[in-house]
Amino acid sequence: MEKILCVYCGDLFDPSPRHKNQIACKKPQCQRAKKAEWQRHKMKADPVYNASQKISQKQWASANPGYWKRYRNKNPDKAERNRVLQTIRNRKARSKKSGTKMDTPLIAKMDALKSDNFQALGQFWLVPVVAKMDSLKVNIVKIPILYP
Ligand SMILES: [Zn+2]
Repeated sequence: MEKILCVYCGDLFDPSPRHKNQIACKKPQCQRAKKAEWQRHKMKADPVYNASQKISQKQWASANPGYWKRYRNKNPDKAERNRVLQTIRNRKARSKKSGTKMDTPLIAKMDALKSDNFQALGQFWLVPVVAKMDSLKVNIVKIPILYP
């Protein structure tokens, strides 16, 4: 059988003959990503599932007090990402409520970059403002240009 490309890691893998339309290889991180994507879709598409998940999450959080505080302390980059995304969600909710259009910059200190030699290299979150899409983590790396 012909190898296919994993949509999560980009590696070629041998598809299982029992699973049609297989899109992910069997690496644990790809299986986790596939499950997370399924759950995000299910949360949006199925209001009953969404409500039961939220109840379940609240029960779990009250059974594990302090978990999220410890998680944020251990993962400052994820906490910062969430702060940015929550700021955007709050603004969207506020602009929806007041009926005004969002015209202010989404991220504070956007105009703080005045340097000419700014290079957009590193890790960024692409956060859609208009479309209802999940944010996307991207790595911007410099590729040297090879002149013939
Ligand atoms: Zn994979």
